[in-house]
Amino acid sequence: MDVINRLIRDGSLTKEEYVELLGYAGDIGAVKLLKEEAVRLRRKYYGDDVYLRGLIEFTNYCRNNCYYCGIRGENAKAQRYRLAKDEILSCCAEGHRLGFRTFVLQGGEDPYYTDDRMEEIVHAIKTAYPNCALTLSIGERTYESYQRFRLAGADRYLLRHETANEEHYRRLHPSSMSLTVRKRCLYDLKALGYQVGAGFMVGSPGQTKETLAEDLVFLKELNPEMVGIGPFIPHHDTVFADEPAGSVDLTLFLLSVVRILLPKVLLPATTALGTLDENGREKGLLAGANVVMPNLSPVGKRKQYELYDNKICTGEEAAEGLEELKRRIEAAGCRAVSARGDYCKSS
Ligand code: SAH
Repeated sequence: MDVINRLIRDGSLTKEEYVELLGYAGDIGAVKLLKEEAVRLRRKYYGDDVYLRGLIEFTNYCRNNCYYCGIRGENAKAQRYRLAKDEILSCCAEGHRLGFRTFVLQGGEDPYYTDDRMEEIVHAIKTAYPNCALTLSIGERTYESYQRFRLAGADRYLLRHETANEEHYRRLHPSSMSLTVRKRCLYDLKALGYQVGAGFMVGSPGQTKETLAEDLVFLKELNPEMVGIGPFIPHHDTVFADEPAGSVDLTLFLLSVVRILLPKVLLPATTALGTLDENGREKGLLAGANVVMPNLSPVGKRKQYELYDNKICTGEEAAEGLEELKRRIEAAGCRAVSARGDYCKSS
């Protein structure tokens, strides 16, 4: 247990020590200790507040072919859709009415949304809702594109690094994609003053204690404002259709570890976690998470944004079930707040 005390004391470990730490993922005493420290830190910086983000999945067209993802370009069975600017603005209007003060525009890498079109959408949202934060999650772009969106008013950007190990990255992606480019994007986004989110799936094919240790080393080095961690869940029309899903318990363990590594991080209890476990999101909050991202996409389109099988999207995790979601957040000892929920700057 020495390594756990060292993590709590120093807030970081070496790669070898993370590997050792991961050996405690099934140890009840260790899990409890890490959870308690994670919750202590979350409360220190954010009190009991849990921030809500309205997730708008605005396109499922994608030029990439990530092997794990249900909306990868080569999946001919995916029913494609994209939302027009006005439809996106309607989602924001509904979200604003419900109390959301952050909108997250997420999509596949869809060439239809050129820099000009994206800039127009960002500008329209920020003009209509100047007191709201806008997060983009639309994959890899050039420095110049990211700069244009930032100048148009985008505040945050989510781009999971997926894995910090080269070989593992190649196992998950075709050769047209590279970890070097992914990392460059993250550093570009940081340099442009975005609040940046990295992250990875837990239990993706080929993941080991060593690759996870490298993820933790990378996260500490990048020092992102947000980290998205959720279990891998197979999708029936992908290369990984027959691979097992990731572990909920290991995901919770890693949420606690990330909270300790990056105490002020904005850490979502993800939809994937809620998909694998009915109480996954509450468990995530109790492990140190402080963000939930209910679905604000048009109800008729939600099933089509199918990253993995059985994705929850119409129950209490979605915007319509907000009252029930708030009740669940309270049951986890927290409080859903209507605020932008920016990264905490105080020490
Ligand atoms: N195109 C954007 C958004 C990707 S979807 C981008 O490149 O960032 C958001 C995240 O969903 C991905 O980063 C990935 O980590 C996760 N995801 C994709 N397929 C998944 C699966 N089968 N199981 C769990 N998470 C998945």
